[in-house]
Amino acid sequence: KIEAGRATINQSTFDLHGMLQDLKSMFQVRLDEKGLVFELIIEDRVPQTIVSDESKIRQILINLIGNAVKFTKHGQIRCIVDAKYCDNDEWNLMFQVEDSGIGITAEDIQTLFQVFQQAPGGIKEGGSGLGLAISQRFAKMLGGQISVASEPGVGSCFTLEIKVREDKSAQPGRKTPRHKISGIKDSKGTYRILVVDDVKESRELIASLLTPVGFDVIEASDGREAVDIWNKMHPHLIIMDIWMPVMNGLEATVKIREKNGGKAVPIIAATASAFEEEKQTILSTGMNGYLRKPIQEQDLFDLVAQCLGIEYTYHSSEK
Ligand code: ADP
Repeated sequence: KIEAGRATINQSTFDLHGMLQDLKSMFQVRLDEKGLVFELIIEDRVPQTIVSDESKIRQILINLIGNAVKFTKHGQIRCIVDAKYCDNDEWNLMFQVEDSGIGITAEDIQTLFQVFQQAPGGIKEGGSGLGLAISQRFAKMLGGQISVASEPGVGSCFTLEIKVREDKSAQPGRKTPRHKISGIKDSKGTYRILVVDDVKESRELIASLLTPVGFDVIEASDGREAVDIWNKMHPHLIIMDIWMPVMNGLEATVKIREKNGGKAVPIIAATASAFEEEKQTILSTGMNGYLRKPIQEQDLFDLVAQCLGIEYTYHSSEK
């Protein structure tokens, strides 16, 4: 799509600081598991509300932070965000993602942003070698670029620079849960929710939100596994990532819909896609709802309640 020049910029006004905090929580489980420290440093001058393509910025940062986590065994990852004012509310934003991981040789840096290029460490860890190539193209569409400095055995630092506009007038429409959910009202049994995603952190994030409320969360890492689990366990609801290896979410949905009982099961699509047009395609394939990643807690709970026809109970005292 990018190569064909059909990728478009979708601008909106959003809370940059909030988005960065969301990204941090998205990676938290994986970071804890690996015993890595993650530091998010946002300099005071960085504007809060900006106008830009939120999905593309998010997708680039997920790629950079995801790689940092993937290629670091010990130590820490730091994401430092800084800004330089130009004029007319225009800012240059700079995001640095620094890790203490395996590093990249000068030779491998040459080809890093080309499609399907992986350094030896990358080949070992798996992946597609597409992430950085796409991220670099997105960065260019946003009027900037990604650069890298690295030393093998010491670590890497990826820098994303883009141009954005500050929206001083806007009050970002950020959703924060009104009250903390404590459980399911008048629950007549346990609801099984199947979460399908090839990225472990994404599955774990959803599970960490749903499990404490009393849902039984089952995980699958691709479409084929999801179809198998559907056949065996008949979950009450499925949250399905769209882009996955082996069998993608749309194919898996078609397969599940073909099976007995699978016509009625609510399926919610979850995607980090930066392509807004895709939402319509997804909904037109018979999915019951659409969640944009990284998932907002309230959106998730609202959609789950709507699909299952349930209500929640809430903690009475909210700080
Ligand atoms: P993928 O991670 O799917 O292979 P990417 O385009 O995101 O694809 O990355 C390409 C390659 O660059 C990786 O396979 C890896 O070899 C190297 N790389 C990227 N980020 C890092 C990092 N933080 N530390 C070490 N190597 C990295």
